[in-house]
Amino acid sequence: MAEMITMGADGKLHVPDEPVIPYIEGDGTGVDIWPATQRVLDAAAARHGKSIGWQEVLAGEKAFNRTGEWLPQATVDAFRESLIGIKGPLTTPVGGGIRSLNVALRQILDLYVCLRPVRWFKGVPSPVKHPEKVDMVIFRENTEDIYAGLEVEQGTEEATRLIKILQTEFGWDIRPDSGIGIKPISVTGSKRLVRAAVEYAVQHDRKSVTMVHKGNIQKFTEGAFRNWGYEVVRDEFSDVAVGWDDCGGRPGDRILVKDAIADITLQQVLTRPDDFDVIATTNLNGDYLSDALAAQVGGIGIAPGANINYVTGHGLFEATHGTAPKYAGQDKVNPGSLLLSGVLMFEHLGWTEAAADIVRALEATIGEGIVTYDFARLREGATEVRCSQFAAAIVERL
Ligand code: NAP
Repeated sequence: MAEMITMGADGKLHVPDEPVIPYIEGDGTGVDIWPATQRVLDAAAARHGKSIGWQEVLAGEKAFNRTGEWLPQATVDAFRESLIGIKGPLTTPVGGGIRSLNVALRQILDLYVCLRPVRWFKGVPSPVKHPEKVDMVIFRENTEDIYAGLEVEQGTEEATRLIKILQTEFGWDIRPDSGIGIKPISVTGSKRLVRAAVEYAVQHDRKSVTMVHKGNIQKFTEGAFRNWGYEVVRDEFSDVAVGWDDCGGRPGDRILVKDAIADITLQQVLTRPDDFDVIATTNLNGDYLSDALAAQVGGIGIAPGANINYVTGHGLFEATHGTAPKYAGQDKVNPGSLLLSGVLMFEHLGWTEAAADIVRALEATIGEGIVTYDFARLREGATEVRCSQFAAAIVERL
């Protein structure tokens, strides 16, 4: 009998051997990558005496066609009650009331961390010479920054009013033909993000946490994010972590917490990837960084992602690519992104051995040159297989 995952008073997830996990198949290629992913996850779990009580919930086109709603309340409720869920890609409704279903789910459940691990898998075609040197885990703040959606359009009455207030009350001279966006960065949002990143570094035996910001220009938002981050380290983690200035860059056996300006970071992750381990950053920087890094390891099609609230225990694991509608139903695309998101979910549930099995089997499959079209076109001598065949090959190698 499948049981619910619960959050204990100890702040830890309590995961039964057969947890209820709601899933959204996803639009477009979701019909291909979801069954492939499910098959591998089920096989890996079974090897360790676990199983999953999958519960399908609807969102996106499938939900709209059946219920007339893009994101039915029942889906939100299922994720809220079950704590952990997984989803394929969703079509962004054009001209609907919801800006993006992904953003809506993140906001409703206050999933404040966007977790994006980036590493290279042997055999994956990469544009750099040493992709194996990239092994980073990005903690991107997920609820504020310019993503708060606080914008007024140029020429509207709101924009004119705001410009006037800023002129009369702050003395800020803004061109009258401007659109304006607001970038809120709070103590709460910054501290909980850095706290999650340092806790992750402690639990996963990582060496450093780099806070990436643009504080040289945006002092009271990006610069404050950095300062509050160092405060968290000093106030809450002094036994296990230390800020660069507090140790002169010599942390001993503690985790080193340092910071770097965003533009320089984008150079250095390329030229000195060894210097980076866990990265904690604001929303927009995190967006740029995670895609740039995914490209470096050839992994745009297989990059996993998760949105997590470590306090309530909610976590939604998801493919990071879109629905690729031109390939929908062709059993062609790479299920790697959704599958590795499933691996991330297993790790989060404490099913680390099953997660490691999948990674090993995936590496063996790609290493033998058995790949989907996206990798096959970049690799000589590869054997191109369908999405479902790729999953079967992984299961065989578990
Ligand atoms: P996309 O669906 O990510 O597709 C862009 C290209 O990426 C594809 O044409 C394909 O490249 C490659 N690709 C995507 N998934 C792949 C996979 N599983 N395996 C191998 N290659 C893959 O982006 P889009 O065409 O801009 O967006 C389509 C829809 O998805 C839109 O409605 C958008 O709003 C939505 N979207 C959803 C999410 C989400 O739910 N998380 C994220 C982004 C976009 P090639 O053509 O080179 O083969």
